[in-house]
This record gives sequence, C-alpha cells and structure tokens, in this order.
Amino acid sequence: MPSIIRTVGGDIAPEQLGPTDAHEHLFFTTPIQPGDEYTDVDRAIEGVQELARAGARALVDWTPIGLGRDPEALLQVSRATGMSIVAATGVHRDAHYDASDAVRGADAATLADRFTSDLVAARVRSGVVKIGASYHRLQGLEPAVFEAAAEAHRRTGAPLCVHTEHGTMGLELVEHLGRLGVPASCLVLAHLDRNPDPGEHAEVGQAGAYLQYDGPGRAKYWPDSTILDLIARIADRGLADHILLGGDAGRRSMLHAYGGGPGLDYLFRRFKPRLERELGAELSRMIFAANPARAFAFEPRRDGSAPIDG
Ligand SMILES: [Zn+2]
Repeated sequence: MPSIIRTVGGDIAPEQLGPTDAHEHLFFTTPIQPGDEYTDVDRAIEGVQELARAGARALVDWTPIGLGRDPEALLQVSRATGMSIVAATGVHRDAHYDASDAVRGADAATLADRFTSDLVAARVRSGVVKIGASYHRLQGLEPAVFEAAAEAHRRTGAPLCVHTEHGTMGLELVEHLGRLGVPASCLVLAHLDRNPDPGEHAEVGQAGAYLQYDGPGRAKYWPDSTILDLIARIADRGLADHILLGGDAGRRSMLHAYGGGPGLDYLFRRFKPRLERELGAELSRMIFAANPARAFAFEPRRDGSAPIDG
C-alpha cells in the first residue's frame, strides 16, 4: 500500500499536504489551565481562516482524549476552511488528568484498542497518536500510555507525536519507544525548543526522530531568534530534514478569536517570512512542506473503514 496522510476528511497522498503547521490545538480544555479552555467551533473556523490567509494548507491537531478532542468538529472546521486537518488520538502527560478521570482506569490493552479504533474504525479517523512525558521521567498513567501507543503503532503504522516536558528526555524516549517496537522515524518530539540545546537535539535527530520546535511568539520565555539559531545549527549538522515547526496555541489567551494573541496565524504570518529572509526559502520549504509530508505519512497496516468523502 502506498503511504498516506490520514486527515479528518479522508486519506491524502503526502505530496498533497502542502505548507503545514505541525502542532495545533483547535479545541482544548484541561484542569491545569483553568480559564484558558476553548471549545467554540465558529471561533476555531475564524482562527483557521487566518492561518489559511497566512499561507498554511494543513495542520496537525494534537489534542488528545479527554482534553477537548473532537474529530467531528475538526471535520466541520476542515470543510468550512479547506484546511487539511490531521486529528490525534492518544493521552497527554499525567498532570492533565484529574484523579477521577476515566483514562486512569484503563490498562494498556484497553487503551491500545481505543487508539487503534480511533485510527482505523471511527467515522472521522485520527492520523497520529499523541502521548506525553513528564519532566525528566515517566510517571502515573504515562508508562501504560506509551505501551498502548506503541501497540497501536505496531497494528496501524500511524506515527506517534510525543509531548516532552521542557524538552527533556528526548533520546531516552526515542530509545524507550524503540524497545517497544516503534522506529525513530515514526516519532515526532514536541517542545524541544524549551531546552534550546542544538547538540542535544542533534543526537535525537541522528537517532532518526523528528525535532519539533513550537515556541514561536512566546516572547516571555525566549525570543524567536533563539529558534532561528537552533534551526541554523541543526541545518549545519545536516539534519534540516528532521525539523518541524508548529504554533501550539493551546490557550484561549493566545487566540485572536478570543481577544488574545499572538494568534493561530503567528507561525505563518510572522515567523515563516523571517525564516525565509534569514535562512532562505529552500530551508523554509523543506521545514514547512517536505518534512511534514514525510513525518506524518504512514503505510496503513489495517484499515477498517472507507475514507469519508471531502
Ligand atoms: Zn500542544
């Protein structure tokens, strides 16, 4: 079977993906960010229209089970905007779930069945599995979630999208998932720019995983120039084909549609033109189009249902 990218509107050929925001959340609720949740479909459409005007053609929504994940609503947004949207199944790091949350009662086998069914049998199918690690360790529900995601990957071929806490444990997570049967080339590690250490990132890239930087616009933590420097240093080491960029607007206070900023479009409106000016258009095309088309593609191994027509 040829490689595909599984969007909420159906499977597409990787070369159809186009310029991609590799990490977004069109809806998000979590007990650890009270007051910053957002679930409104019309406002999501508004944000995605901004992102489309800024030049994006696709986005990957990393919102996992229990935190506002809504594939049907993502399909609505995709149809209203023409944006290709990849949905996630999976479970975030432990801290995002209350003590009484239903996901805590599920063992690895149950979670693996749920992830698999979201990937191959749901009416609106997911195209990636999101999982999360804590700061320098796996704790609480995380080891079982990693096991379940690896099993879902072995069954379906779908890529795993991994939240790292402050960019920690990149190489350990790649090795851990490798022991569970997931090749590094099927892994995307998010938030590595929270620990802007190009030598450390190069080790993760050399191991074969995708390095995702998703902090543009977070001026209170670090300037965008930090991310541009990281990209230049990783490219110097011959690993530009492992870099992905995402906006990761996971709070309503970051979204124009809710009166916040810098907006869902910041990555394409402000950061991408600067990347092109400072590091060149060819590198930008690689990072925004060629790399996502590889990172999010897979050969489906088991396919329970026909794709939805667009
Ligand atoms: Zn995120």
